[in-house]
Amino acid sequence: MKLNDNIQYLKGIGEKRAELFHKLGIFTLGDLLYHLPRGFEDRTNTRNISDLIDGETVCVKGFLASAPRKFRARRGGGWVVQTTLSDGTGIMRLTWFNASYIDKSLSDPEAEYMFYGKVAYRNMAAEMINPVIEKLEAEGGGAKKMGMIVPIYPATAGLNQRGIRDAVKRALESLTESIPEILPESVRARNDLVGINEAIRRVHEPEDFDEFYKARRRLVFEEFLKLQLGVSTVKSVKKARKAAVIKDVKCIAEFARGLSFDLTRAQKKVINEIAADLKSGVPMNRLVQGDVGSGKTIVAAAAMFAVSRGGFQSAMMAPTEILAEQHYKTLKACFDPWGIKVAFLSGGQTAKERAANIELIESGEAAVTVGTHAVITDKVNFKNLVLSITDEQHRFGVGQRSKLISKGMNVHTLVMTATPIPRTLSLVIYGDLDISIIDELPPGRKPVRTLALTEAQRPRIYDFVLRELNRGRQAYFVCALVEDSDTVEAKAASEYVKKLSRGVLAGRSVGLLHGRMKTSEKEDVMRRFADGEIEALVATTVIEVGVDVPNATIMVIENAERFGLSQLHQLRGRVGRGADQAYCVMFGNTKSGVAKERMQVMCETNDGFKISEKDLEIRGPGEFFGTRQHGLPEMKIGNFFTDMEILKETQSEAAKILKSDPFLSAPEHKLLLDSITKTFAKAGDILN
Ligand code: ADP
Ligand code: MG
Repeated sequence: MKLNDNIQYLKGIGEKRAELFHKLGIFTLGDLLYHLPRGFEDRTNTRNISDLIDGETVCVKGFLASAPRKFRARRGGGWVVQTTLSDGTGIMRLTWFNASYIDKSLSDPEAEYMFYGKVAYRNMAAEMINPVIEKLEAEGGGAKKMGMIVPIYPATAGLNQRGIRDAVKRALESLTESIPEILPESVRARNDLVGINEAIRRVHEPEDFDEFYKARRRLVFEEFLKLQLGVSTVKSVKKARKAAVIKDVKCIAEFARGLSFDLTRAQKKVINEIAADLKSGVPMNRLVQGDVGSGKTIVAAAAMFAVSRGGFQSAMMAPTEILAEQHYKTLKACFDPWGIKVAFLSGGQTAKERAANIELIESGEAAVTVGTHAVITDKVNFKNLVLSITDEQHRFGVGQRSKLISKGMNVHTLVMTATPIPRTLSLVIYGDLDISIIDELPPGRKPVRTLALTEAQRPRIYDFVLRELNRGRQAYFVCALVEDSDTVEAKAASEYVKKLSRGVLAGRSVGLLHGRMKTSEKEDVMRRFADGEIEALVATTVIEVGVDVPNATIMVIENAERFGLSQLHQLRGRVGRGADQAYCVMFGNTKSGVAKERMQVMCETNDGFKISEKDLEIRGPGEFFGTRQHGLPEMKIGNFFTDMEILKETQSEAAKILKSDPFLSAPEHKLLLDSITKTFAKAGDILN
C-alpha cells in the first residue's frame, strides 16, 4: 500500500472502523503512521513478587496458584474475576472488574502467564487491578505483549489502544514505499537525527529504549523545527507587507508634555520602538511586556495619538467590561484636550448607545475606539483602522487577536501583557512578534507589603484597615471563586459583603462588584469607587486585571489558597499604584503545601518575572501550559516543557536555515516548506 491510500482498505479496517479513525484525523495510511504515541508502557521490567513496590507498574510472571473465581460485584453488580499468582518468590492477588470474559483467558491451569499492571498493597499483600494478560506459549517461551515497550496513542471512544496498535502494525507491514524525508541531510547530520523511515518504524515498534528515544527525538525535532520555521516565516511574510506610514511620530513628544507625569525611561524606550515601527511602512507586530502597574496604557495611548494625528483610526480591546470602561475614561481624559474623539463598545450597552458609537467609528469621526470583544463583531466597520491594540493579551485567544487585525488593511499590531513567560516559550507563542519590555515602575512606587495571615491576626488587620480608611485611603476585599460558576461566586460575594458590613465595615461606605451584575450597575460601582465615594470594594476576581485606582492601598484576599500565583500577583497589582505604601493581606488555608508555597513566594517577591518562573516550577508543566492563557499551538508528540532542550536546538537550527534561505525556497527545503504550509493550514490559527 501507498502512503496516500485510504485506511479503509487496510486489512481489518472497514468503512465503519475507518470512521473512528477519521475522528482522530486519520484518513490515509500516512496519517496513521504519523499518529504518534504520546507515551509508552514499559513492559520490559519483569519483577519478583517478593520485590514489588507499592504503586509501581511492572510485569510479573508465574503460574496461577488458584482457579479464577468469577462473581458479581456487591456494588454495581458487574462481573469480577479474581485469582492468585505464584512465581516462587511470593503470591499475589489479581483482580479484574467489569470483566465477564477474562476468566476465559485464564483457563489453562498448567500454563505460565505474564501480567502487566500497577501494584497496590492491601493488608500487606501485593495486588494488581485489571492487569494486561498474556499466556506464554511454552514454558520459558517468548512473550508477544510483554517484555517490550508498548506505545500509547491518543485514542477515541470505540477505538482503543489495541485497535490502534494493530492497525499501525498492519500499516507498517503493508507499506510498499518509503516515507519522504523532509529534513535535509545537512540538518540531520548536524543534529544527529535518524532518518524518517527508521524513526517512524521505531517509535511505533521499538526494540529497546535507546531506539525509542532516538526515534522520538527525531520526530519531536521535526515537529518543533516546523513550528519555529513556520512562525518565523509568518513574521517575514508580515514584514514583507506594506502598512500605513505614520509620518509624524515626533508629535508624541507634544502629547507626553501634556501628561501630568514624566514618562519613565523604560516607557520612552518602548514608545520609541513603537514609533519606529509606525514610521517604517512595514506592519508593526509588537508585544509589550511590563509588570502590573508599569504604565502600559499610556504607552498605547501615545501610539494612538500619533496615529490619529496622521489621520487614521486605532482600536484597543480589553478582556473585561470593567477594564474596557476604565480605559475609555483614561483615554477620553488624555484625548479630549486634543479634540480627538473616542468611541466605546461593550456587550452591555443599549442598542442605541451601540448604534451611536458604531456610527462614530464608521464615519471616521472617532479616531480612537475602546471596547471589549464587542469591537471585533462583524457589525463594526472602521473607516481606516491602521493600529490594533490588545490589552492583557494572555486573556485572549490567538484567533481574537487576528480578528481585530482583520478589521483593517495591513494593520499595525500592538499587544500588551503583564504575564511574562520564559523566553524560549515566548519565541514559540509570540514568535511572530517583536518584543518590548517595560522593565521599570514609575518613580516613587513603594513595593507592596505582603502578608500571609492566620485567623488569629484578623482583628488586628481589621483595625489597620479602618485606620487606613480613616486616612482617606481605600481597600479591596476579594473573595475566591468557590466553584467555577458565576452564580455561586456572586452569591459568595453577596454573603461576604453582608458579613463585612455588619462587622468590621459597619457604618462605612461599601460597594459590591461581581460578574452577574448588569453593566450599568458595574459601571456605577466602579465610578463611585474611583471617585472615592465607596471606601471599600468587595469583589470577585472581576477586578483581577487592569483595574487602576491609585488611592486604593489595601488588598485583602480571602481563601488565598484557591488562587494561582499569577492571579495573586495580578490582584496585588491593583494596589501600590500611587505614592502611598500599600498592603496586600492574604487569608487562607495553608494546609496544602502548594498553597503555602505560593503565599510564601508572594511575600518574598514583587517581581512578576520571578513569580512567573516560580509559578511554572510549582504548578508543573501540565497545568501551566494547559491553561488557555498561553494559547500554545497543539503538538502531536513534542512537549514544550519536558522537551525544552530539543526546543532550544530547533531554535538555533531554524535560525541557521533561515539565514541561508529566508523563504525556504531552495530545492532541498521544498518538502520541508510544503509540510510546514500543510501543518499551519490545518492549525489555521497562527498563520490566519
Ligand atoms: P499597567 O501596566 O498595569 O497597565 P497602567 O497603565 O494601568 O499600568 O498604569 C498604572 C498607573 O500608573 C496609572 O495610574 C497611570 O496613570 C500611572 N502611570 C503610568 N506611567 C506613569 C509615570 N511615568 N509616572 C507616574 N505614573 C504613571
Ligand atoms: Mg493595564
